[in-house]
Amino acid sequence: YTMKIGFIGLGNMGAPMAANLAAAGHQVTGFDLVAECPEGVSQAGSAAEAASDRDVVITMLPNGAILRRVADEILPSMQPGAVLVDCSTVEVDAARDVAAAAEAAGLGFLDAPVSGGVGGAAAGTLTFMVGGSDAAFETARPLFDIMGQKAVHCGGAGNGQAAKICNNMILGVTMIATCEAFALADKLGLDRQAMFDVVSTSSGYSWTMNAYCPAPGIGPQSPADNEYKPGFAAELMLKDLRLSQQAAEAADADTPMGQAAMALYQRFVEEEGGAGRDFSAMLPRFEARGRG
Ligand code: NAD
Repeated sequence: YTMKIGFIGLGNMGAPMAANLAAAGHQVTGFDLVAECPEGVSQAGSAAEAASDRDVVITMLPNGAILRRVADEILPSMQPGAVLVDCSTVEVDAARDVAAAAEAAGLGFLDAPVSGGVGGAAAGTLTFMVGGSDAAFETARPLFDIMGQKAVHCGGAGNGQAAKICNNMILGVTMIATCEAFALADKLGLDRQAMFDVVSTSSGYSWTMNAYCPAPGIGPQSPADNEYKPGFAAELMLKDLRLSQQAAEAADADTPMGQAAMALYQRFVEEEGGAGRDFSAMLPRFEARGRG
């Protein structure tokens, strides 16, 4: 049936997600401080207005501090029993705090960060990693089916964010490992195509090697073939690695590879011109360096 949906945060990800919900026949009201509403989405004058009288309110915002602020603003105006679904990537703690505030207000909450990027948002093929109650998950499931191709219910509040940052910690570490191995192979005189042919079918294979190869002209099309234009920008990788290190510190988990990956991406973004480049541009970075 047709749901009344509020959608707050209509940036690179939020706009195509909201447009897909509207195209599927749902009644979508949107709000963003800056961005315009996409076609089919009616414009609200404030976040609170976009959230009032809605079955489900979806947020797709830059970070946890902004999520907390928007939640303070909208929770009082949401109708009893409505569900707030945050699809942003934020701290596990921010998700759990907003979940508690929602529960206290008689509302449902799901943390439902995504993977699949801007292409997946436009095509409706995102993967949702979801934390929260069974009841809230059942309410939102038809919307996940429109915006994505897979929604995994990972447990209680915050577990969606936990899954997201663990996945992306593996991604950051693996991309660096793949890039440093390519740079070493070059210096040893090993042809890149031969390196790819061996590793992509051997025990060193990974998503970064096989599906998103950081070497131009090797493997399937990837940002390396487009001068390392993102794709997935290095500063977004850094954001996610900071989230996993922050969570590791809070939970007393030992994550030395995550720590090293965060430090490398931080240097890359802040000192080595990596900002605005795809996160696979670590390969030319390693190519240009010696051990010093
Ligand atoms: P974006 O910056 O393009 O969009 C965020 C939008 O939020 C902006 O349009 C901004 O104006 C709006 N906004 C900020 N404060 C607001 C407020 N108080 N009220 C209303 N609107 C407000 O970012 P994005 O690329 O769409 O990413 C959104 C989230 O999704 C981030 O948490 C990001 O980490 C995550 N994510 C992004 C990708 C990606 O490939 N871009 C992939 C997976 C996850």
